[in-house]
Amino acid sequence: MDIISLDKQFVANTYARFPVELVKGKGSLVYDAVGNEYIDLGTGIAVNGLGIADDGWKQAVVAQLDQIQHTSNLYYNAPCALLAETLCKRTGMQKVFFSNSGAEANECAIKAGRKYGELQKGKDYSTIITLKNSFHGRTITTLSATGQDVFHEHFTPMTDGFVYAKPNDFAQMQTLVKTQKCCAIMLELVQGEGGVVALEKEYVQAVAKLAEKENLLLIVDEVQTGNGRTGTLYAFEQFGIQPDVLTTAKGLGGGLPIGATLLGEKSAGLFTAGLNGSTFGGNPVCAAAAGYVLSRIDESLLSEVREKSAYIFRELTGANGVKSVTGMGLMIGVECERDVSEVIAECMEKGVLVIKAKNKMRLLPALNIPKELLEKAIKIIKEVCAK
Ligand SMILES: *Cc1c(COP(=O)(O)O)cnc(C)c1O
Repeated sequence: MDIISLDKQFVANTYARFPVELVKGKGSLVYDAVGNEYIDLGTGIAVNGLGIADDGWKQAVVAQLDQIQHTSNLYYNAPCALLAETLCKRTGMQKVFFSNSGAEANECAIKAGRKYGELQKGKDYSTIITLKNSFHGRTITTLSATGQDVFHEHFTPMTDGFVYAKPNDFAQMQTLVKTQKCCAIMLELVQGEGGVVALEKEYVQAVAKLAEKENLLLIVDEVQTGNGRTGTLYAFEQFGIQPDVLTTAKGLGGGLPIGATLLGEKSAGLFTAGLNGSTFGGNPVCAAAAGYVLSRIDESLLSEVREKSAYIFRELTGANGVKSVTGMGLMIGVECERDVSEVIAECMEKGVLVIKAKNKMRLLPALNIPKELLEKAIKIIKEVCAK
């Protein structure tokens, strides 16, 4: 059966897929339907953080499948409560709302922001400041939060109440806070889809102080940067701030869909029964998977992430045909002199899967990628960039 033609005929045309059908893998190696082997530096867009079919992860998932696969939120389930406890204890947050994706985690954060504004300042204090070049999701409201006009085309009217500030321009942020009736500021600390660019630390700290002073919720979108990706469990730790609301998804479940909105001291009391919900949110199988993923992200794995990151930066910065290397941890953007799509296609031909972010190649290897596979992949990337 020709899966590619079948997909083209029956799956909605929302994706520009690579002409490859992936069938299986182990760790950081993945295989296509005709038997080609690839080193996976994309991990399903920062999702398979422990690689493919990790033994412990599989065990945790299967053990939960043997118990019960779904309960609904009408009842308690242990994996959900235990995961919430772990997330709170490791982040200094107080409560967690579970959903199924990054966009939904952000929807919940936006609801928290609006409710906070209403309680603290009045119903018209509903505006949320986000950054230009950000990405917050694909629902109408998270698209509206996304500070890139191209994403708004065709779908107007967008949800009201978002204004966009230029990244790293603190004076403009101050002006917006003064002139708009705000409830929250929402930041992506490393703009992933926007080209893997980290915000400046001083800016982030100044914005956090401003949010505190003006009694606004500071929402940090760690959907992509979270769960060990940047070399700490969450990226905010490296910026020296404490979010009021923290969202994450992608790598949390290690390959199963789960989103989480973590609420801090200022926001933990905002939700009461009936104010938000999700049929699948906190699903015990996804929660067991996430609990296992977090148990593996310890100081030893995180220091491995930081070492591998330093290695990639050392190898690629200033290499032939490489214009710039940006990002944090194992979330890295590589700007090449050659056309990025050609570079990505050629890497794939040579057995390395990488993805794109704007005009850059984006590297998102598994946190536990073996060093020799990483070295092999980086060697190929360097050859392709230098051509
Ligand atoms: C991927 C992403 C989202 C959206 O997550 P989905 O799971 O696709 O809904 C939101 N914010 C950031 C920063 C992301 O990288």
